Amino acid sequence: MSKPPGSADEVKTVVVDGLGLAKTIRSELAEQVQAEIDAGGRAPCLAVVLVGDDPASLSYIKGKQRACQRVNMTSVEHRLPESTSQEAVLELVGELNADDGVDGILVQLPLPKGVSPELVAEAIDPAKDADGIHPLNTGKLVAGTGELIACTPLGVMAVLDHHEVSLEGANVVVIGRSDIVGKPVSFLLQQRNATVTMCHSRTRDLSRICRRADVIVAAVGSPRMVKADWIRPGAAVIDVGVTAVGDELVGDVDFEAAQGIASLITPSRRGIGPMTITMLLRNTLHAYRARHGR
Ligand code: NAP
Repeated sequence: MSKPPGSADEVKTVVVDGLGLAKTIRSELAEQVQAEIDAGGRAPCLAVVLVGDDPASLSYIKGKQRACQRVNMTSVEHRLPESTSQEAVLELVGELNADDGVDGILVQLPLPKGVSPELVAEAIDPAKDADGIHPLNTGKLVAGTGELIACTPLGVMAVLDHHEVSLEGANVVVIGRSDIVGKPVSFLLQQRNATVTMCHSRTRDLSRICRRADVIVAAVGSPRMVKADWIRPGAAVIDVGVTAVGDELVGDVDFEAAQGIASLITPSRRGIGPMTITMLLRNTLHAYRARHGR
């Protein structure tokens, strides 16, 4: 339960500045990209594919492209109409795979009905898989040898590391088991010797499980689901969830109520979101270097 303000054992909550951390990492990436260009290479290039005209997806790809330009990478946009067939999407992915000027490929999800995200993921050249979704890359992640890893989980790990959250032997509860967030982040945490409990919609007594956690990673998409009394005083809380509620973007954790209880918390804005985009840039540079033998 929330402590009365000013009580002796009230926890000082650090609100993570995900945007600030993202900017720091991006300026390091920009220097590395510039060094490649100065050494006579071309700029790394990310190809972004959007099928349909979902406004949220359009805004995401614009943000990703802007982020590329800011670190001196090139970004090529391919927009296909909502009615595009599975075959046509796969054909474009095949062309991008074959294009030597493209280092990273991102196909924005969700895809329209009739286009299988699994088939698209399998079609992307694993060496250009900037989003870390190809089965070869997810398999390598499970084996502990992953290099191109899903961006949001990488962003979560970067935040935990930046804030020196101890993971060795820690009880970490991950809520959500999606292929792009919950599952990959749980493997990354296990590789750091955390004891991970994966929870999902069928988990019984979730609040009790959360109360034992040293770290909670919430990736559900259910506004303010994690209440203050689910959080052990001093636990670190990473809130990946983002849901539009009216004009507001709301996380999975009751952010206000967690103040004075969590030792650290990510806000729904300027938290994990900017870190996700930053890890996309990291993956693109990584793919570029690997493709050029560096
Ligand atoms: P998803 O594919 O919809 O998965 C949601 C997960 O939550 C599922 O595993 C589901 O369980 C679980 N779940 C649903 N209701 C639950 C409940 N009442 N109790 C416990 N678990 C429950 O979602 P996602 O793609 O992982 O995204 C999750 C959230 O993160 C969304 O809000 C999304 O917008 C956000 N997100 C943010 C970023 C970012 O950069 N900030 C990136 C990616 C995603 P079942 O498996 O049993 O159905």
